[in-house]
Amino acid sequence: MLFSKVNYRLFFNQHCVLCRLHPAQINGVCEGCHQDLPWLLFPCPRCGQTRRTPNAPCHSCDQQHYAFDFALAAFEYRFPLNAILPLIKQRHSLHHLGWLSRLLAEKIKDNELTLPDSILPVPMHLLDELRRGYNQAAILSEQLGKHLSLPVQYDALIKSKRTPHQHNLKATQRRANLQGAFQLKRSLPSHIALVDDVMTTGSTLNELARLLKKQGVSRVDIWVLARTPEPDID
Ligand SMILES: [Zn+2]
Ligand SMILES: [Zn+2]
Repeated sequence: MLFSKVNYRLFFNQHCVLCRLHPAQINGVCEGCHQDLPWLLFPCPRCGQTRRTPNAPCHSCDQQHYAFDFALAAFEYRFPLNAILPLIKQRHSLHHLGWLSRLLAEKIKDNELTLPDSILPVPMHLLDELRRGYNQAAILSEQLGKHLSLPVQYDALIKSKRTPHQHNLKATQRRANLQGAFQLKRSLPSHIALVDDVMTTGSTLNELARLLKKQGVSRVDIWVLARTPEPDID
């Protein structure tokens, strides 16, 4: 239901959703805008973070112990993604999830990944979801599920504790802050993909991966639209 609403404007809009000048040629975007998107081109094969130089050890993996097995982001969290994703969350611009989900699904297919048994959106606390009216990660999951013919489990994970914004906290505070924040409501198949719009510090996704692993999930992948580059990577 949400999927059809999200794609209505994209389907009937003949012009690029970004520049609104040129014909939409690639999933709702013109060729020029498609090329100019901040594609994440040199990802670490494990954590998905941009590497300073291809084949060099990954700084991000050196610094953190990731509980997930693999992470993939279509884009770096730079313009225009850092303008569009807040619009999706704060201004209900859900039509952007139409073309963005298609590009992420293509990236997943291009990487020839072993597809998971099920997709799980990163949950919001019920009060926050009611205030916003939707969970953008759930809508993104719904669309990825359609593009990739995969089941989505919307209510397997719940967030039972409200937490402050993670990026304002130190790593140890982030971890403490998230302890006990999420609960798993049912048993899951062995291979799961967790979906969110953006991966900033990775602490929420890592905490969820840790919870799933503890509950017997053997492989946890992360799929996000965009990933915040490390501070010294421009
Ligand atoms: Zn354009
Ligand atoms: Zn890495």
